[in-house]
Amino acid sequence: MTKPKVLLIYTGGTIGMIKAPETGALYPVDFQHIHEHVPELMRLNVALEAVNFHPTLDSSEMTPKDWIKIGTTIMENYNQFDGFVVLHGSDTMAYSASALSFMLEGLQKPVIFTGSQLPIGTIRTDGKENLITAIEIAAEQNHDGLPLVREVAVYFDYKLFRGNRCTKDSAENFEAFRSPNYDVLAEAGVQIKYNLDRLYRSNINKLIVKNNFNTKTALLKLYPGIDFSTYQSLFDKNHVEGLVIETFGSGNAPQDEKLRNLLMNFINQGGVVLNITQCNSGTVKQGLYATSSMFNQLGVISGYDLTTEAAVTKMMFVLGETTNFEDRKALLSQSIRGEMTIDRSSFFD
Ligand code: ASP
Repeated sequence: MTKPKVLLIYTGGTIGMIKAPETGALYPVDFQHIHEHVPELMRLNVALEAVNFHPTLDSSEMTPKDWIKIGTTIMENYNQFDGFVVLHGSDTMAYSASALSFMLEGLQKPVIFTGSQLPIGTIRTDGKENLITAIEIAAEQNHDGLPLVREVAVYFDYKLFRGNRCTKDSAENFEAFRSPNYDVLAEAGVQIKYNLDRLYRSNINKLIVKNNFNTKTALLKLYPGIDFSTYQSLFDKNHVEGLVIETFGSGNAPQDEKLRNLLMNFINQGGVVLNITQCNSGTVKQGLYATSSMFNQLGVISGYDLTTEAAVTKMMFVLGETTNFEDRKALLSQSIRGEMTIDRSSFFD
């Protein structure tokens, strides 16, 4: 039997760092020679190849151009490999994983993002376990020899999350990610236990890489006492075409005339507005309280249980996909890669 082939794509981040013994300074390893640093990889039943980004990036530097670079690398190698592991800084990993999930329509192979809190070249590193298990997951096949995972996912600290459902939760703990509104896809203990009914299956069979992100996107987080005049430029259609608002609780905002007028003008000019909650879990229910009825009246779109990372990248993606107002609204209103659960029930039925 031939070994499954996995491509490692090292973009940067802490995981790929080792310490120079003489100076103690951290520098990035060349993943082409990763076996020298993680000899355990030789014992895996996987044929591994690696490509490095030049230069490697701290993930705070990532932009849509870099997402496109990752997506293009996957596309160019799609037929030669059974799975992909993207090594990436953890800080913006949930943004990149969400963006890639939207880009890679019809994906039928695993794309597993991972990273670490401590460099792979340090004694207490979490990087080795994250790397080795991510590779095992990327190589995992079912009885028919088809990949088990066929979506963009994040593996971190013994858990596999849907990429567009997770969020970075801790700057310190090894358990750095959380998936607030969707079950984990797998948990790694003595064995890797997959939550089979949670795995995403696309009904499109051919990979289509869609790489237009429109950054005329803005994010506004509400807070009590907010003066909307300060944020007037976010509602200017010349600069912003899509606005994500992080509202209170189940999608609520102050009943503020200024906000109402800004929203009305923006939407009348063809701007799209997506409402997500700033709570750590749960969903938007527009119209449940008087403080969210305004959004329904004005045509603000409910983002239900989207994470901020998924909402912002979905907005950039949708604005890049089409310039048509109705098509933009339709795409934002539906779950296109399993990123959102549409919940129309009321708490008080
Ligand atoms: N600052 C780093 C980054 O996100 C942290 C990490 O690698 O986890 O690139």
